[in-house]
Amino acid sequence: MKIFKGKGVCGAIASGRVSVFKRNEAPVKRYTIGDVSAEIERFENAKSLAREQLDAIYSKALFEVGETNASIFEIHIMMLDDEDFNESVRGIISDRLINAEYAVSVTKDNFAAMFSEMDDSYMRARATDIRDISNRLISCLSSDSSHQEDIDGRVIICADDLAPSETVSLDKGKVLAFATAYGSSNSHTAILARTMNIPALIGLGEEFLNAISDGDMAIVDGFTGEFFLDPDEETEKKLTQKREADIEKKALLHKLKGKENVTLDGRKIDIFANIGGVGELGAVLLGDAGGIGLFRSEFLYLEREDYPTEEQQFEAYKKVLESMAGKKVIIRTLDIGADKKADYFGLSQEENPALGFRAIRICLERPEIFKTQLRALYRASAYGRLGIMFPMITSVSEVERILSLCRLVRAELKAQEIEYDENAELGIMIETPAAAIISDRLSPLVDFFSIGTNDLTQYTLACDRQNPHLEQFCDTHHEAILRLIKHTCDNAHKHGKWVGICGELASDLSLTREFIKMGVDELSVSPNMVLKVRDVVRSLNLSK
Ligand code: PEP
Ligand code: MG
Repeated sequence: MKIFKGKGVCGAIASGRVSVFKRNEAPVKRYTIGDVSAEIERFENAKSLAREQLDAIYSKALFEVGETNASIFEIHIMMLDDEDFNESVRGIISDRLINAEYAVSVTKDNFAAMFSEMDDSYMRARATDIRDISNRLISCLSSDSSHQEDIDGRVIICADDLAPSETVSLDKGKVLAFATAYGSSNSHTAILARTMNIPALIGLGEEFLNAISDGDMAIVDGFTGEFFLDPDEETEKKLTQKREADIEKKALLHKLKGKENVTLDGRKIDIFANIGGVGELGAVLLGDAGGIGLFRSEFLYLEREDYPTEEQQFEAYKKVLESMAGKKVIIRTLDIGADKKADYFGLSQEENPALGFRAIRICLERPEIFKTQLRALYRASAYGRLGIMFPMITSVSEVERILSLCRLVRAELKAQEIEYDENAELGIMIETPAAAIISDRLSPLVDFFSIGTNDLTQYTLACDRQNPHLEQFCDTHHEAILRLIKHTCDNAHKHGKWVGICGELASDLSLTREFIKMGVDELSVSPNMVLKVRDVVRSLNLSK
């Protein structure tokens, strides 16, 4: 048995035989042409043929993966008319008197390289679309097309990478799973795999390609990202059990998609999702979350070598808001320090970092960083329903300073005639005992509270959350914590504000009933927990 480790883009397990994806990729021939207009006509005819093929693929995708996901093929159809692309091809044909196939191939390499070098990971992933559409044009010019030999039985499709059109063209009834050596989780192929609910692994590496052959037995674990080639009996048994349990669980939970989060006696709550980056949006949509209750924006800072610019942040926030299509999105401002450090901040070593210079303290001391983020957030607010949330609050004066900075940013944007949402909500995290205790004073100042039970627990019980030896002292159900949560809920409601929980305790199903009884309005959990919490909420009767 050999194990390859990649990244699972769709959590499910499949076992079966390998089928190595074959495509006709004969080297593109280069030859000199005599008649430029005839060659350009050939190119135009190939475009028409490609358009016809893409129309058919779009219809298939529409049926199999729905309108939103099928729209990538509409984009491919539009790309056929992209002026820059077409001009480049025509230019190479007419200036260098070279055949159309070669002109498309050169243009493909140039455009794909340009996209691959872009900062934005979404744009980088578009290089695959350029290659896909160009290869289609080249095969239309050679009246030849990519193909997979007729597959016998259901198989695990293994490839270097798969283009979106290749993914959707495969007969879904015959595909058990996808496994690729390269690829990104932001690619449309990954998105399609998730939507088609087919176990899929990407990034298994070059060695994987060399090791597999048609007919090999394999198991794909989309949860752990593992590919087991020629699995031994014990692995097979273990994964069969895991698969059966997963199928059973999913079938039960799937029935809850689109259903309300309402108790048997009629109390409704919101169940939102926590994310750390744009890459997790797919899971949020798949999990059927009603919104995003916590976007930990610091990951945008942690994945870089230098401060993200206003533009880079704006693009990321806008993408989240647009993807959530009008559902509430709560983005938390920078919560750096303690366990989350980036060298370029130049933070000094501290004896007790969790009690140190972190989160809002840094933002208020270094307003240039904070203002850049607030501007990006307010600009993005024009694209959806944004709530901005501030971490590690301990006092009224901190909140007043934040609000005055927000006013300043809004005034600046207004003066520059830049659009933003006047009604974007402003809230704070209740994650220090101080904030919970004075929540009566804080509540009139803001639109909402979100309780961060991870930090609230560490500060209330004096248990460093990073220290594994303190497990036994860290009782998350401690009466002190539950009382602080109840106190916070009461004070929020006294002033007509909503209150949520976004710490890990929100997904502790043994407390769901108690939280709802306390008056919690929203629970924000990891995307794969949304349906599990919904399941519990719908089984509760608070009057009993
Ligand atoms: C919390 O403290 O509960 C919280 C949600 O924030 P983080 O875990 O990011 O500190
Ligand atoms: Mg916290």
